[in-house]
Amino acid sequence: MNKAAHKELTKNQGLVFGALTSAEGPLTAYAILDQLRDDGFRAPLQVYRALEKLLEVGLVHRLESLNAFVACSHPGCSSHHAVAFAICETCGHVSEFAPNAALADLSSWAEKAKFRPSKTTIELRGTCANCSTQSAN
Ligand SMILES: [Zn+2]
Ligand SMILES: [Zn+2]
Repeated sequence: MNKAAHKELTKNQGLVFGALTSAEGPLTAYAILDQLRDDGFRAPLQVYRALEKLLEVGLVHRLESLNAFVACSHPGCSSHHAVAFAICETCGHVSEFAPNAALADLSSWAEKAKFRPSKTTIELRGTCANCSTQSAN
């Protein structure tokens, strides 16, 4: 995690980041709002504003397919341009990884097609190792 970025957070941003850090899995903006009502959050917009900044500094990622958010778990994440997520559909666990080989493929395609990507999202949906083991027993 980027410590310098963390220090610059406002109180609301810190609270939203804290909610995501202590969560077991991804949270939607409304789930975050529910958790932070006691801390003075009243409107989804407050959550969205905080999330916007957290996304910008790379402390949080958005899971497009779930419309939910996770705290970054990849050390030094701000240095990678794209991240990939493996989302377990049984327990909701999310693993973050850097899809370097896949990215190399995608960018060589984009280069050939003269396509300029502004954003790359890679999400795998399925069953995590833990849940596969349990269903085998
Ligand atoms: Zn990350
Ligand atoms: Zn699982």
